[in-house]
Amino acid sequence: MKQDAGTSQVRTAGLLDRSTAAWLALVLGLVLTVVLWRYVDDGLEERTRDRFSNHAALARDNLLSRMQAYEQVLHGGAALFAASDKVGRGEWAAYVSALHLDRSLPGIQGTGFTLMLPAARLEAHVAEVRAEGFPDYRVHPAGYRDQYSSIVYLEPFDARNQRAFGYDMYSEPVRREAMERARDSGRAALTARVTLVQEFGTEVQPGFLIYVPVYGSRMPPDSLEKRRADLAGFVYAPFRAHDMMQAIFREDLRNADVELHDLHDRPENLLYASGARNPAARYVVTHQVEVAGRDWVARFSSTPAFEADHASAEPALILYGGSALSLMLFAVMHSNARHRRRMRAAALHLARSRDAFRTLVENVPGVVFRCGIEPPWRVIHISRGITALTGATPDEFVSGRVSLGDFILQEDFPAIMAALEDARARHVNYEVEYRMCGRDQRVRWVSERGRVATDPDDAPLRLDGVIIDITERKTAEEAIRNLAFVDTLTQLPNRRFLLDRLRQGLANARRHGRHGALFFIDIDHFKRVNDTYGHEAGDQLLCEIAARLRQTVREGDTVARLGGDEFVVMLEDLGDIATEAGDRATLIAGNILSALNEPYVFGEIRHHSTPSIGIACFDGSELRAEDLLRRADEAMYRAKAGGRNRLETLGAS
Ligand code: GH3
Ligand code: MG
Repeated sequence: MKQDAGTSQVRTAGLLDRSTAAWLALVLGLVLTVVLWRYVDDGLEERTRDRFSNHAALARDNLLSRMQAYEQVLHGGAALFAASDKVGRGEWAAYVSALHLDRSLPGIQGTGFTLMLPAARLEAHVAEVRAEGFPDYRVHPAGYRDQYSSIVYLEPFDARNQRAFGYDMYSEPVRREAMERARDSGRAALTARVTLVQEFGTEVQPGFLIYVPVYGSRMPPDSLEKRRADLAGFVYAPFRAHDMMQAIFREDLRNADVELHDLHDRPENLLYASGARNPAARYVVTHQVEVAGRDWVARFSSTPAFEADHASAEPALILYGGSALSLMLFAVMHSNARHRRRMRAAALHLARSRDAFRTLVENVPGVVFRCGIEPPWRVIHISRGITALTGATPDEFVSGRVSLGDFILQEDFPAIMAALEDARARHVNYEVEYRMCGRDQRVRWVSERGRVATDPDDAPLRLDGVIIDITERKTAEEAIRNLAFVDTLTQLPNRRFLLDRLRQGLANARRHGRHGALFFIDIDHFKRVNDTYGHEAGDQLLCEIAARLRQTVREGDTVARLGGDEFVVMLEDLGDIATEAGDRATLIAGNILSALNEPYVFGEIRHHSTPSIGIACFDGSELRAEDLLRRADEAMYRAKAGGRNRLETLGAS
């Protein structure tokens, strides 16, 4: 049960043993990485977008305030006309130059005044201006129109602006639309995209104009009809869009590409573009800007420079770093799990092997032990089998209450020590047989096989071995030995042993020329003993006869029991003369006869028994053992026939 618990403990795999945990960590790590990356990236993106929006809003405000400033300048011009009876060319030039527009409001192409001229006044007007010192002056384009207008003042009056001198803007529909709007509203009005008459050469760029109406009366007329009737002209400013916007947005162009469209974001409406449109721009902000009663669409898109300025390595670092960390964690956990699984499998395997080994050890017939190397051989481990040998439990041994030496016969200690010493010296396993005496006082033979475990310096550490009870084997061996040569009842040599000895005796006699004799002894009427006193009494009698036979002959002579009530005695060395030997044999046989005639006493029973003895003499020259035995037997029969309790001799044949 204990072992099973151990094995099942090993079997319980933890979460860390499974690759699932590694996969889980990987997925979690990647998800966290992506979430964090998105969060940081979105945050940065939002901040950058906000920054760009701020840039764009500032640029738009800049544009708006500049345009309002221009409007203000024009309103100032209109006010000059309202305040003064006559604004001559000189006054106008003085007014404009006093504004220092090139410094305060760069980008404006000019500031001028255009005079409205009904057809009737055209000729006189041209004459007036020519008289001012401009002999080439004319209102253009030529041709008859009910209503003319003419640019009479335009400061700075440089070469480019002089191209516009006398130009009738009212004759051109785009300009006219704005002029009429200004006239009708009394406010500043912006044109759609135009090409200024100042443009020439290759550097043609889009332009626009702003008109502020100037009425004949000092106070602005309060109705549309009056405004139309009272219109005297316009203070206006032409703008070359590119030059002007470049000046306005100069500060902003690092961060934003700017496009300015009139009304709609269409190519034909394009007023200004700081560069070619970049479709890959990340941030685009569009603002609608109202300038002098007309809408502009300002489109700001982020420049690569802005994007580079605000690019951050942080999100990429989080994404790649987080992914790499997740992968590393996965790799570590995965390999760890695999390692742990292998370890666990190995541990399980080991536990199973250990269990199997324990079962094996507990079930081997005998005792498996580990103990100290010297008497009394204190036990470190011992299997259950020791109880059958000693009566003591393994616990008693392991706890040190008893030792193996307590149960080993003292006289066998030297044999054991010698075997151990020999094994240690020759680095071989030892094997020794000795006796143990258990608590039941039974002595048992055991065989111990084992090895002397040593440390790296060859010093003996302990004994590992197996003890097997060989008592039965020992007994069986004894029995076998006895059965083979000894008669079990009388312990005398049996027939087989006798034949051996006979052959030896004959050989000796032959070799040394000595004579011997063989007595064949059969007890007279032995059956009667059995019949009268029982078989056991018969056995006792046989034993007693055997004892008397041994006592009667010499130590070196052979006494054997052939079986039943038949005994054989062989005498050797009776001399080298046949007759003398025969006499001696007869004498000894007589002694036997008398000895066996002595009464037998068994408790209450007193018995008298007699033998018949056949004597066969030999000198070893011719006989086989079987023949000699047969002759003695024959002599015995003669003794029986002759009346029993007597000797009968059969000489050498
Ligand atoms: P005889 O004078 O003719 O020898 O008569 P006997 O009764 O001795 O007859 P025999 O020698 O032929 O028989 C021997 C008897 O001895 C036969 C058997 O009953 C008995 N006997 C043989 N072996 C044993 C034995 O081991 N123990 C006992 N108690 N009796 C034995
Ligand atoms: Mg007999």
